[in-house]
Amino acid sequence: MAEDYFEGAKLTVEAELVSSGKPYSGPVDVKFLKGSKELKKETVNATDGKFDAPLEYVAPDVEKTEKNYDLSVICTYKKKNKKLLKATIWPKKVKAYFQDQEETKLSHWDFLVKQKGVDDQELSAEDDGKAEITLMARAAYSINVEAPFSIKDDEQVTKGEYRDHIVTVKRNIKAKFVTPDVTKAPYETDSDHSPAVKQWVNRVSANAKDVATHGCDSFGSRIVFTVSADPPEDGRKDDKVYFEVTFGDKNSKRNNPKREVLTTPAVEDLESKSSGKKLTGHVKLKADGGTADFQVELGIAGGDTCEVKIGGTDGVKDAKLKIINWRKMYAQATKLSTSTKPSLASATAGMKPVFIDFEEDTGAAVNLTEGDAPANSVMSGTIFETGGKAKALVVGDHNAGPFKAKMKSKFKTNSLPCAHLIFCDYQYDAKDRVHDVTLTVAPGDEIEFPPESGSNVPGVYEPGGNAGGKAKFLKKDIRDGSDPIKKCKWKSTDDASKNGTVPADHILVDCTKYGNFVHIKMPAAAVAELDDGHSIEVALKVAYADGPYNGWCTNGDLHNVIALGRTDKRICGTIVHECGHAIQQAAETAGSFPGLPAPPHDRHYTGRGHFGPHCAKGLSASKYNGGQVMNTINAGASCTCIMFGSTGARTTDSTEFCDKCEPYVKAVAVVTVSTT
Ligand SMILES: [Zn+2]
Ligand SMILES: [Zn+2]
Repeated sequence: MAEDYFEGAKLTVEAELVSSGKPYSGPVDVKFLKGSKELKKETVNATDGKFDAPLEYVAPDVEKTEKNYDLSVICTYKKKNKKLLKATIWPKKVKAYFQDQEETKLSHWDFLVKQKGVDDQELSAEDDGKAEITLMARAAYSINVEAPFSIKDDEQVTKGEYRDHIVTVKRNIKAKFVTPDVTKAPYETDSDHSPAVKQWVNRVSANAKDVATHGCDSFGSRIVFTVSADPPEDGRKDDKVYFEVTFGDKNSKRNNPKREVLTTPAVEDLESKSSGKKLTGHVKLKADGGTADFQVELGIAGGDTCEVKIGGTDGVKDAKLKIINWRKMYAQATKLSTSTKPSLASATAGMKPVFIDFEEDTGAAVNLTEGDAPANSVMSGTIFETGGKAKALVVGDHNAGPFKAKMKSKFKTNSLPCAHLIFCDYQYDAKDRVHDVTLTVAPGDEIEFPPESGSNVPGVYEPGGNAGGKAKFLKKDIRDGSDPIKKCKWKSTDDASKNGTVPADHILVDCTKYGNFVHIKMPAAAVAELDDGHSIEVALKVAYADGPYNGWCTNGDLHNVIALGRTDKRICGTIVHECGHAIQQAAETAGSFPGLPAPPHDRHYTGRGHFGPHCAKGLSASKYNGGQVMNTINAGASCTCIMFGSTGARTTDSTEFCDKCEPYVKAVAVVTVSTT
């Protein structure tokens, strides 16, 4: 082990010399070496194994081109070499001169000398910027300056000279985020700031500066980053804070609004790299101890990421924040107080993969008593099905208006979307649904009246299917609870003066009891005409309703009528489906998806028993057949996307969008839900 000495140290060397197992007496050659260079060579005498006098040397100074050097003493006797000393010699005094980047001396400059094993020395230069440093440890040393300053270079060291430092100092602030405040929720992350924090981008503002929070409240596609020195008092007016903004490789193809660093407020040296994925530049502090701002547009696509790094140098190593875009969609539940609200968990789960955070605004929930409910919306469920409950809520296009007016969530008006979930027991549409038809009863025409009674009488029936594919002849006109038969008149084709109104007890209409028909038994006077061989014309006007439906997004509006009476998962499936319609799914028009391949995708279809655009992902190309799904009932067994809609329900309970729809759902501007 080498021993450590300062330069100029007096070294005393003694030895125990042995030869053939006995203390040696006689001449000894001694070499004093610096590295391999011989500094001194002498011959001394030893008696009984010891030098007659101790050997004494002085360690020469460390040269200016050396950081230290090795010294050794080797003796030779009886052709044997023996190393008597191995030492490392360190400098004791060094000099330093401090200057700024303009080469102006830094009088009384404070600096630190650090060495292992001893306390840091806090020193100051003299008036002339020079300092003499006495080192405290026989060890390597370093000269340091305190933040926000750093050593730009040490000219002499650069040249390979170590004793006479010329130290150039530069100001070099550390930067930090003032807002968003990354030390607090919602922007708080772990010490490495590696997990992305959520930003709900579906609050659109032309300039986040216009929003009191500058987008630093987790909402908005634009954030104004306010930065300062760390600590702020280190900052001086015009100190630079550098930024680097990197958008994720897997971000949506949506290109409007463009993800970018905006030029309001002004930034300097803004440079776009990697096709706009990385933007660099800097801003300058507005005052001593002050701040500077730059604004980032995150885009509005769900799942997009953006990493913002800042620093006092363009290495941007001082602070960072990673953001991931989400869209918030609130929901208000409006229902009859006597019905049970389904769990919305599966709806939340279905929207999560497309970065929509679906959350009920529970404070806005509306529970209607029968008296609060819009007129003619609470009625017996037996109108629709056998065993239907006594007080059922029925909503459709004929009475949706007053339900829409029940929307009270504050999120409807503050630029955030809020879906209005109007939970009903039955969803039937009855607006303007009156079937107006002329029927003919020929002599000999008979119907079973009542149906399945075995009693045949002259008469005629009209199937609901003639009014429309989803038309149901219900026992009441659900618009006002009145008789659905608005008109039923007969007249002889032979003599129009022979006519009359078919009495109510000659008409049977109740699809739960008699099937989906209007059965009309001819009154006696009409039967007489038939018996005379004359046909009878029957003018029928009957109110009907289209349904039942599981849900209705009220034509792209935020109000969604959702039918209960199914499992929570199925109800949630309807919620996601209807909310999907409300945000332009399945995608049809390119205008809503700038930058994406123009929709529709190759399993899109319309109609087939549902209204609006739908998705048949899962169906083979031949069965999809260019959108003319051959068997809409069986298709439900293959179709997996929540945007499947047809006469046959999907087999799966999944509430998620398929991979064909996903890019469009991620890209869509969710904010538009609240604008209709
Ligand atoms: Zn649909
Ligand atoms: Zn799909």
